[in-house]
Amino acid sequence: MVESGKVYFDFCTEYDAVKIAASLRSALVMLGLENRIKSGDQVLLKPNLVMAKDPQLAVTTHPEVVRAVAMVLSDCGARLYLGDSPGFGALDSVLEKCGMKPVLREFAITVTSFDVEEVVFDKQNLVAKKLTLAASAFQFDKIINLPKLKTHSMMGSTLAVKNLFGFIPGLKKPMWHLRAGHDRHFFARIMFDIYRQVVPTWNFLDGIIGMEGEGPTSGTPRNFNLLALSADAPALDCLVEKWLGFPELSPLCFEAKSLGLLPEGSFYACGPAADKLLVPPIKQAQGATQAAFSGQRLWRRIFVKRPKINRTRCHHCRVCVNHCPAQVMKLVDAKITIDYKRCIRCYCCQELCPYGAIRVGFGVGG
Ligand code: SF4
Ligand code: SF4
Repeated sequence: MVESGKVYFDFCTEYDAVKIAASLRSALVMLGLENRIKSGDQVLLKPNLVMAKDPQLAVTTHPEVVRAVAMVLSDCGARLYLGDSPGFGALDSVLEKCGMKPVLREFAITVTSFDVEEVVFDKQNLVAKKLTLAASAFQFDKIINLPKLKTHSMMGSTLAVKNLFGFIPGLKKPMWHLRAGHDRHFFARIMFDIYRQVVPTWNFLDGIIGMEGEGPTSGTPRNFNLLALSADAPALDCLVEKWLGFPELSPLCFEAKSLGLLPEGSFYACGPAADKLLVPPIKQAQGATQAAFSGQRLWRRIFVKRPKINRTRCHHCRVCVNHCPAQVMKLVDAKITIDYKRCIRCYCCQELCPYGAIRVGFGVGG
């Protein structure tokens, strides 16, 4: 029987698809999920493919995890598809750089673009009564969510629920950042509006090598040796944060509790790694520890950490300029400048800079 709220934690120390698949099979049985995917089901795999990075850098879901999932699902007789909407860059080149192409060929996985949009109206949504999502979210029998374990400058962590933000088609993402501004709880509620529409059949977290510090793209890879599985994305997020030693609930987990998605005593960890919490705890992203000063511009300018450009690392590629939701970045005289009075502290620039040239912190800079 499937128990909602149950999350399976297992140790795995290497990217070996056979070992990962063995762990996944045990986890599916433990959680009663082994028969969820039927022969002939069309199944969409949703890894984290935020940008074109080598898998060793721990920015994207590792191809061996996708290979392991494909092995298990092929045995079930599923027809496999894979898609995402990278933060920038064409999906095809992101797949190439992230090492996914050999896996796609080996298992005849069809790539599906998230460019085709579908508009959903839902009065029950908290923020986005009208929500534009990738049509792929509705075209398959099942969705398997394959997040990467990483810290996140704005949201504290990016795990299962945050990975669903990829269902927002490319150019619509900055719009939601702009609407949320630096209000991380508002942004979390948008994630749960997406989650209302797109509920994965199960979520399998790649935490073998994840990221700490300045995640989600400029942090430091760390061996967490963790795989986690659950049908319940908010429970997985909340319990993984606890396992990692988060000092307090991230905005996403706080909102999940406020919304009644995680009633006390309704969710728990099981499996070989469940009780062996991480030592030392994960190093947080700088921006994640700030207080929110909603509506107080002066306080925000002083106390909320700001993005700062490292001029030595900057290649003047303009990715940040082109993706800044508030359009407050400029390339002037071979220097990136930021209008801090209008900057909403979303840290999209830090997330998307391909050269790790943007840091988040106090003080002047940029
Ligand atoms: S800061 Fe990063 S994204 Fe912006 S121009 Fe420089 S290298 Fe490109
Ligand atoms: S400068 Fe960076 S943090 Fe500020 S609004 Fe633009 S993308 Fe967001």
